[in-house]
Amino acid sequence: MKPDIKSFSREELSKQFEAWSEPDYRLAQLLNWLYLKRATTWEAMSNMPKVLREQLRQCYQLAVLETARKQGARDETQKFLWRLPDNAFIESVLIPANPALYSEASDRHTLCVSTQVGCAYGCKFCASGLNGWKRNLEPFEIVEQVMAVERWLHEDKSAGAPDPPEAGRQIHNLVIMGMGEPLANYDALMKALRILNAPWGGGIGARKITISTSGLAPQIRRLAEEPEQFRLAISLHGATDLTRSRIMPVNRRYPLAQLISACEGYLDKKGKMISFEYILIAGVNDGLDQVEPLAALARRLHAKVNLIPYNRVEGLEWTRPEPAAQEAFLEKLKQYRIPATLRREKGGDIDAACGQLRLRTEKELAVTAQKGT
Ligand code: SAH
Ligand code: SF4
Repeated sequence: MKPDIKSFSREELSKQFEAWSEPDYRLAQLLNWLYLKRATTWEAMSNMPKVLREQLRQCYQLAVLETARKQGARDETQKFLWRLPDNAFIESVLIPANPALYSEASDRHTLCVSTQVGCAYGCKFCASGLNGWKRNLEPFEIVEQVMAVERWLHEDKSAGAPDPPEAGRQIHNLVIMGMGEPLANYDALMKALRILNAPWGGGIGARKITISTSGLAPQIRRLAEEPEQFRLAISLHGATDLTRSRIMPVNRRYPLAQLISACEGYLDKKGKMISFEYILIAGVNDGLDQVEPLAALARRLHAKVNLIPYNRVEGLEWTRPEPAAQEAFLEKLKQYRIPATLRREKGGDIDAACGQLRLRTEKELAVTAQKGT
């Protein structure tokens, strides 16, 4: 199997081009085709010599994600289910604007990407971990989620109009909150994020990239040492060890004291770059007695709290609290002067809860296969 071209940094490709005695401007052309024009074939790269394109073809794969399913209406949240060559499924979610995440109104697109097929961490409420972990994504599979959605956005907008040569950036914010635990696929994640962040690549500012983690303390410490100013979202969901361990097995490995201390290290290095995600699950973590410990943790890290009413997952027993209980939790948090938001959804619940479309599709495929036998 050839390695994929979108898994390589500019530096690495530059060495290859030097070895081929190709001038630097040829590499610039290639990167332009890959990340600005989002070419899907070598043939499309019309201003590059045929011989060079042939050389590239022989050394590298140029993979394009195949859409297995798409859900959502125009100008609303869109969910993409991708089929990978090994028949694995992953999801990306395109969100038109997300003021809750960035505290600013914006008509810019946010994309939520996956980093693994399945997840090994088995949080009790989550669809992504239900069938365990299958494999890590490679850098190009993370990068290509952005390119594939940008291609779709662009086609959708221009609807038949001729393609302008410079299609321009379509995605401005990235959240690493899809399927999988990003910090458990650390090296591939960093490689992909550097490509997506680079001016020659995705051009998405590091401060516009939020990495969400269930709390892998050692990897948070490692991330703090990286030069980039990525934002960090901690999937907290419980402000005491008792509550958190009940729904998140990872808390037994890295209890709150370890997690918060790693986050303090991140805060020291990066400034106020941390937020807490807190799903409200009825009867589990929505009691008003949870607000005080939550506020205490948030204050220590200068963190903002994003409250998210739980999205039901087929086959799981958990539910979200009534709206009044959600509002009461938010109010009490604000009384402690903690900056907090509550996601109030209008209709469909496809916003969060990545992993559900995959789960449903896999179930349907299993039924079809059974019928076929
Ligand atoms: N593994 C990482 C990133 C992926 S999960 C992490 O856990 O942070 C992205 C976010 O979606 C997490 O905060 C996760 O707890 C949340 N989530 C998972 N299932 C959900 C559900 N059914 N409803 C609402 N949020 C959910
Ligand atoms: Fe994995 Fe995150 Fe889901 Fe937990 S919430 S099972 S870490 S994807």
